[in-house]
Amino acid sequence: MHAVPSTRSEVELAPMSDHSIPSYEVVVVGGGPAGLTTAIYTTRLGHSTAVFEKEGGRHATVNHVHNLLGVSENVSGSELAAHAVAQFEHYGGDFYADAVDSITETGDDGGRFRLEAAHATVEADRVVFATGFRDRSPEVPELERFTGRGLHYCLHCDAYTLGDGPVFVLGHDESAAHVAMTMLNFTADVDLLLDGREPEWSDETDEQLRAHPIDRVDTSVVSAYADESIDEDEPPWLGGLSFGDGTERDYLGGFAMYGTAYNADLAADLGCALTDEGAIDVDENREASVDGVYAVGDVTHGQNQTTIAIGDGAYAGLAIHKDLRRFPKSLEELEGDDETVADDDLAVPGTAPDLRATMRRVRDLKTHPGLREPSPGGD
Ligand SMILES: Cc1cc2nc3c(=O)[nH]c(=O)nc-3n(C[C@H](O)[C@H](O)[C@H](O)COP(=O)(O)OP(=O)(O)OC[C@H]3O[C@@H](n4cnc5c(N)ncnc54)[C@H](O)[C@@H]3O)c2cc1C
Repeated sequence: MHAVPSTRSEVELAPMSDHSIPSYEVVVVGGGPAGLTTAIYTTRLGHSTAVFEKEGGRHATVNHVHNLLGVSENVSGSELAAHAVAQFEHYGGDFYADAVDSITETGDDGGRFRLEAAHATVEADRVVFATGFRDRSPEVPELERFTGRGLHYCLHCDAYTLGDGPVFVLGHDESAAHVAMTMLNFTADVDLLLDGREPEWSDETDEQLRAHPIDRVDTSVVSAYADESIDEDEPPWLGGLSFGDGTERDYLGGFAMYGTAYNADLAADLGCALTDEGAIDVDENREASVDGVYAVGDVTHGQNQTTIAIGDGAYAGLAIHKDLRRFPKSLEELEGDDETVADDDLAVPGTAPDLRATMRRVRDLKTHPGLREPSPGGD
């Protein structure tokens, strides 16, 4: 990973709108599963593409990726992203390990974008937000260090891991109540921990909760402790929680349900419409309300799944390609009736020469980056 594009030739050959600022057809902000998928699609479909990624994101907190077809849960979110970055660069994309600070529309009528990052400025025809969201952490000292190892945020990823164990749900709103009741599908031992707060769920939910076999604990949660039975060379796993009334309870793990904060400020500054929850509003092609701007993954809906982020990324990648590709042209364009089409626009092939050179080189390689070992049934 670099703070500048990976190879000299890519920089030199990238189309330039002036002599100093690299110009891309597509720039993706965010290098998680959603953004990297869009970037791999647009690169392999012949569009010069850059990804900007500041360190962090939800994928980086995933110790074990679950529910991803054919990928072992020994793989972490960071490893998955590192493989994807290698694939993206291999196909001819530029990866900037840099945080985008601002984006503005350029040109008299807009339609192009200038992105200012901490160490680089680039221009783009299309911008893709893949900036994710942040889980709001519980205010329990010591608990956050068990993220992914006893403290979880994703029911559909980790309920399986906690099956048949004593489980907590921390929170005091509708979503906490819902997750607590849902966990009864996986274990008979569920505590709903209010951490000294007043419940915010409705009277109907309250009645529903009381009809389920869930222990509601009103007192504050003051600390978390590790499971002492875990080997010292293993990362620690949560052992349990200590309460304000002096009691302790061992847990296999649980979920914190304090909502999410969408990383949508840059999109809002650009004029993109947000949903009531603060996510970026997109259509079925993952295009936002500003022309030429797309958004994918968690920042659009909070679906909270790697596979869905990947699917979103693919939708946007295909839509951007259909929008940007130079061929097919209409008969009017080809027969010269359309005066807006310059002769240059009719030159073939439509994809820039540097990216076509990479296509030819990659085609002839015997090995390619990405997860390869071990293969099922292999040595
Ligand atoms: C603890 C945990 C465990 C999980 N386990 C699983 C699981 O097992 N299976 C599963 O399917 N899902 C799991 N998930 C959910 C999964 O991680 C997310 O759904 C997925 O990462 C979403 O991908 P994304 O690309 O939309 O966002 P993210 O992964 O959050 O990536 C967004 C990226 O944008 C970058 N970014 C933000 N702003 C900027 C900026 N201004 N400039 C440059 N870069 C920027 C961030 O650094 C980040 O890398 C888990 C989540 C958590 C928190």
